[in-house]
Amino acid sequence: NKQVILKHYTKGFPEESDLMIVTSPDTMELKVKPGSSAIMVKNLFLSCDPYMGTFMREPDSGSSDSEVAVETLSLLDAFIPGKPIAGVGVSEVIDSDDPSFAKGDFVWGIVDWEEYSTVSSFGRFKIDMSINVPLSYYTGILSVTGLTAYAGFFEICSPKKGETVFVSAAAGAVGQLVGQFAKLMGCYVVGSAGSKQKVDLLLNKFGFDDAFNYKEEPDLNAALKRCLPQGIDIYFENVGGKMLDSVLMNMNVHGRIAVCGMISQYHLETQEGVKNLQVVVYKRIKMQGFLAFDFVDRFSKYLEFVLPCLNERKLVYVEDIVEGLENGPAALVGLFHGQNVGKQVIKIA
Ligand code: NDP
Repeated sequence: NKQVILKHYTKGFPEESDLMIVTSPDTMELKVKPGSSAIMVKNLFLSCDPYMGTFMREPDSGSSDSEVAVETLSLLDAFIPGKPIAGVGVSEVIDSDDPSFAKGDFVWGIVDWEEYSTVSSFGRFKIDMSINVPLSYYTGILSVTGLTAYAGFFEICSPKKGETVFVSAAAGAVGQLVGQFAKLMGCYVVGSAGSKQKVDLLLNKFGFDDAFNYKEEPDLNAALKRCLPQGIDIYFENVGGKMLDSVLMNMNVHGRIAVCGMISQYHLETQEGVKNLQVVVYKRIKMQGFLAFDFVDRFSKYLEFVLPCLNERKLVYVEDIVEGLENGPAALVGLFHGQNVGKQVIKIA
């Protein structure tokens, strides 16, 4: 059984060398113990998510980020050196002692990064194979990523037709969906991303009204003023730092900011301060952080919304699929350097 193991707790940016691939020399019995109520799965696709970098740090290292993340994402424990890392995955059931799952079922949920896992049915969703979508979608648009974009945009931002929306990390997993949801709502949508290829995708594939490459425009304020001269009603925050500071200066009165993530800050020794926060007061801005897990009760409502959109091709979804578990560490740490174009997925079988 090949696995991706955390070698040691990390400091600063996670690196490929913080993880290692091990293969158990023992032949594995691909069966669950009778009476265990467990299921054995063969893992097919794994999701790479930015929070996983935070989980590689020591939980009580004084880093408020990792402690809060670990407490809140209670379905997952912090990673432990010497043990496999874990995340959302899509798997096939190969043996089951749980009457609600049968051999041959496909499921998604949290799994260790390994070829075969014995898991409990808790928090495991059975995949309806009559829905004609790639199985890999259950690592993203049809699981946590999709719920994040949906809940963050519709529940936190309360969008109205005709409003202006700005999305950072817009060509990523969450960002591409938020931008398209906002277009479906009839909003004017602008995104930022870190390469020309990603900006082209925003404009030509996801239907954003305008976009800019933040790495080539050091004056973010000027870029925002050019793309959104009428100001920003809604900001979907994925990156934090300087971008947040510039956005604050361009927010409209009664604007809303959904704080989904701040990837630019996760691995800095000292987080950058936000200088323009005071504008929240006189502009009466509503700024709210959230976690997808707060909205699990909206998941079926989300599927009712998103599946017809996919079916009628009102939504497109771009994945960056890397083949082989051994290429997982590079793909995961690549998230923090903008290597992924769209949702980063690992195909392991
Ligand atoms: P993405 O697919 O967007 O991948 C991460 C992207 O972030 C990279 O491709 C890169 O794009 C961008 N990025 C990396 N470093 C920086 C930096 N220093 N400054 C600016 N951009 C950077 O990941 P997700 O869509 O999965 O996640 C997006 C955000 O949503 C993250 O902040 C994540 O933590 C958060 N999140 C929150 C959840 C919640 O429940 N609240 C759930 C899921 C995700 P580029 O080339 O454009 O720089």
